Amino acid sequence: MNIIELKNVSFTYNLDTDAEVVAVKNLSLTIGEGAFVALVGHNGSGKSTVAKLLNGLLLPDKGAVTVYGKSTKNKKELFEIRANLGVVFQNPDNQLIATIIEDDVAFGPENLGLKSNEIRSRVDRALKSVDMLDRREGTPFRLSGGQKQRVAIAGVLAIRPKIMVLDEATSMLDPVGRREVLDIVRRLNKDEKMTVIMITHFMEEAALADRIIVLKDGELILDGGEGVFTEEEKLKAAGLELPMPARVAAMLGERGVRLPRGLISVDKLANKLSL
Ligand code: ADP
Ligand code: MG
Repeated sequence: MNIIELKNVSFTYNLDTDAEVVAVKNLSLTIGEGAFVALVGHNGSGKSTVAKLLNGLLLPDKGAVTVYGKSTKNKKELFEIRANLGVVFQNPDNQLIATIIEDDVAFGPENLGLKSNEIRSRVDRALKSVDMLDRREGTPFRLSGGQKQRVAIAGVLAIRPKIMVLDEATSMLDPVGRREVLDIVRRLNKDEKMTVIMITHFMEEAALADRIIVLKDGELILDGGEGVFTEEEKLKAAGLELPMPARVAAMLGERGVRLPRGLISVDKLANKLSL
């Protein structure tokens, strides 16, 4: 079932002024329930604009964005959209507000006007999902970047959205923090059937998704499974690199080691090399 639809969506910043920037051009796509989609593109390709169009922070100039059949243009429906679709942003420090971790996670459900025992159970469950329950009475400020971002994810989970959008949510983290966040996101998708849209410019991260959508200058240029990583020319034109294992395979190819294209994970590359 398709739960997200963008139909001929265009968005221009500072429309009808001298400072117009066309950020998204005639973008059409649908995303099915339970999907794990990576949205990739070079800096300025329109990824964050798409994230903001999805939760109605921005409204399309042309076309329509619907989530579970509700349009972001309808103010009443927007409330429902935001209960169904949570966004985790790049910088965890800008997303954490309270001085106690559990208070921070409670912020979303409190805004939904839920009863206090319901709030408590949601907060506990959300913190458990990100393996931070034992830290609930601590302060977020002393956490590592990865831990902070996990608390930010818990804050979104406590709203119980069906869809999570992560806008470069790992880009400020060290490799350990990045792995912590990715493991949790993958688990939410596989075990809790959460629909995930992961915005990233790390191709290794994109390779974790079932579907990869590539934006260039606000336009969709590639959309597919692993096959996207064999489109070297198009990716290059979009300012993107192949995932590291595929680059290693290409370099080995230049030295005469013949390997298939599209080796996107270390496991797959290792497998072929040991044949
Ligand atoms: P990405 O997230 O892929 O880096 P963005 O969606 O942030 O891309 O930006 C797409 C384009 O819109 C870029 O050219 C960017 O400079 C421009 N842009 C983004 N935000 C604004 C804004 N608030 N005002 C004007 N231009 C903007
Ligand atoms: Mg961005």
